[in-house]
Amino acid sequence: MKIGILALQGAFREHRKVIESLGHTAVEVRKPEQLEGVDGIIIPGGESTTIGKLMIDYSLLEPIRHMAQAGTPIFGTCAGMVLLAKDIKGSDQPRLGLMDVSVVRNGFGRQVDSFEEDINIDALGEKPFRAVFIRAPYIESISPQVGILAQLDRDRVVLARQGNLLACAFHPELTDDKRIHKYFLQMVKESKE
Ligand code: GLN
Repeated sequence: MKIGILALQGAFREHRKVIESLGHTAVEVRKPEQLEGVDGIIIPGGESTTIGKLMIDYSLLEPIRHMAQAGTPIFGTCAGMVLLAKDIKGSDQPRLGLMDVSVVRNGFGRQVDSFEEDINIDALGEKPFRAVFIRAPYIESISPQVGILAQLDRDRVVLARQGNLLACAFHPELTDDKRIHKYFLQMVKESKE
């Protein structure tokens, strides 16, 4: 399968390595033409205000939004989660605005810039997932069409899926555990069938 990785800013190289290590083709996307023929798209972590602005400057916001609406699976991590959300608390920054969730940016406070935590993700099996959070957002409210895959507590959802959209608050590309990428690739495979 061919996965497009938005490569305007942020942790796109790490995602590329994971996709290639799983035997698939990864294409770095900086121009609309590079979206041609991709089966799924990853929006990496980084700075969501910068990525959103660059998506407009590089004419990528509309094409990716249309592909998502037509069913192409999209996987957003960290800043990518922010860009997927319809509502971003206290911000009118540019976004794809596809998921019926409200996110809080830098949701864990300034004191806690980054931390790691073992979290349970039932959809991935019994083994906990070591999640690396870096100035991470969380999903604060969620509509019934969105499925919760992992949460830190009742009020903070950190992995969620709505149809062909997958949003992750942490950085699965920074650990050796590839289960979330595999989960996304399974979504891509199913969307092709
Ligand atoms: N705090 C960043 C934002 O809101 C996200 C951080 C990250 O992607 N690691 O854009």
